[in-house]
Amino acid sequence: MTFTRPTAHLTFTLTSPNHTTDRLHASGELSEAPLPLPQSITDGELSSLKTKEFDLLIVGAGLSGATLAERCSKQLNMRCLVIDKRNHLGGNCYDYVTEHGIRASKYGAHLFHTEHDRVWNYVKTFSEWIPFDHRVKGLVKDELGNEKLVPIPPTQETVNLLFPQSNENEIKTEQDMERWYEQQRVVPMDAQNNPRAPLNGEEAALSRVGPNLYDKIFKHYTKKQWDKYPEELDASVLLRLPCRTTTDDRYFGDKYQALPKRGYTRIFENMLLGDGNISVKLNCDYFSHKAEGTLPKHKLLVYTGQIDLYYASMGMPKLEYRSLRFQEEYVEWDEGEVEKDASDASSSKDASKEPSTSDNYFYQPAMVVNYPGPDVPFTRIVEYKHTPNQPRGIVDEKTRGTLIAKEFSTDEGEPYYPVPNPENRALYEKYKKLADGEKNVSFVGRLASYKYFNMDQAVLNALEMFDNLQENGVLEEKRAPEEFGEGDGMK
Ligand code: UDP
Repeated sequence: MTFTRPTAHLTFTLTSPNHTTDRLHASGELSEAPLPLPQSITDGELSSLKTKEFDLLIVGAGLSGATLAERCSKQLNMRCLVIDKRNHLGGNCYDYVTEHGIRASKYGAHLFHTEHDRVWNYVKTFSEWIPFDHRVKGLVKDELGNEKLVPIPPTQETVNLLFPQSNENEIKTEQDMERWYEQQRVVPMDAQNNPRAPLNGEEAALSRVGPNLYDKIFKHYTKKQWDKYPEELDASVLLRLPCRTTTDDRYFGDKYQALPKRGYTRIFENMLLGDGNISVKLNCDYFSHKAEGTLPKHKLLVYTGQIDLYYASMGMPKLEYRSLRFQEEYVEWDEGEVEKDASDASSSKDASKEPSTSDNYFYQPAMVVNYPGPDVPFTRIVEYKHTPNQPRGIVDEKTRGTLIAKEFSTDEGEPYYPVPNPENRALYEKYKKLADGEKNVSFVGRLASYKYFNMDQAVLNALEMFDNLQENGVLEEKRAPEEFGEGDGMK
């Protein structure tokens, strides 16, 4: 869509760059939890804004919406109204502090990682960040049927632990590992018997790791996560996860990997609150207000929700999204059980745990333990206490309790992931055609672009759209969502 740059009352001179880091904290706000928000924000009422006119009406207070609001306000002095149907800021990044003082994410683990200096420099202006290299373990049966805790993504250690018998010589070098992959890989071929690009997730995984690791780590996890086998999904899904030849067991290889010191929610508070140009309304459903005719005047709509929901009245088929359900449990240290665990750390149930002591109890040895097998219905268990950005009490004191969340994938509930496969892509293209024909609406972000953006990609996409607005007067993407790449790829 095209947005004609209004001239009468907007200044386009750059205001001084904002170098503040956690403005709220610097101004004396010491709380570790999300700030209580005034009723004027949470009442979802738009009647008080009836006579106002906004440059941007932004639907969705997640990363895309907040980035655009912040940039357009600070740099272009534009007046923005950000509305969200949920009762909190931050979209799926929202985190909070539980009754036991643990910082937890309402919508699952969020690990920030980026290669982009621009994104890193931007997010640093809203928070201090604590470096955190995310490491994931998977509880996987080896070829003899014994459960092992192995690094995921696969590394030299993963192969050594899972194939102690068939892999005669222990893998010790990158060359050994490369040789192992070479023996395992199944490269897809075209009709002329030339190697060709993988056409789906199964071909992608087989061409990287071969059938043995595929079966142990990717096949069933993917079925649980997407309710589809990898062959029913685009190659891109399985290419998100790197497969290493080294001993590097970090989940991501990016230059910057960190967690926000006072949580993600604080970032959104710093972006959106206390800015005279930005009004925020939560518990505020765009579609209800649109139907009632209670939306205030605005020049441009920035829509970050599901694109098919926007066109629901047209009766086209719905796009598929995956959601997650979390079964949370506060687990307390139990002397008997922990001693039993410590005495047999490799047996099936206990392999996911490490010996803990009563003065600081952990349920499992890493923040995330994946369960890639078909024998349990959940995909992973997240234990928040492992993160370094826990509130003071949790970091400084030893606690006998810990919060875990078992993660189940479902097709009902808040949408998290677009489901990339040819059918959904074709359907999305139909919606996109409609969207391209809109005059004063911009579709932005993971749900509106139907693209599996990582957090940093969502920020970069929004920043680049802002550039376009600043440079050309149009709030449009600078590059197609697919150009953001597939994730970490082969390392
Ligand atoms: N995956 C897998 N086994 C694992 C971890 C990931 O098969 O132990 C596959 C699965 O298809 C998953 C994809 O890799 O959907 C991407 O994983 P990632 O951790 O990036 O998913 P996210 O954290 O975004 O849910």
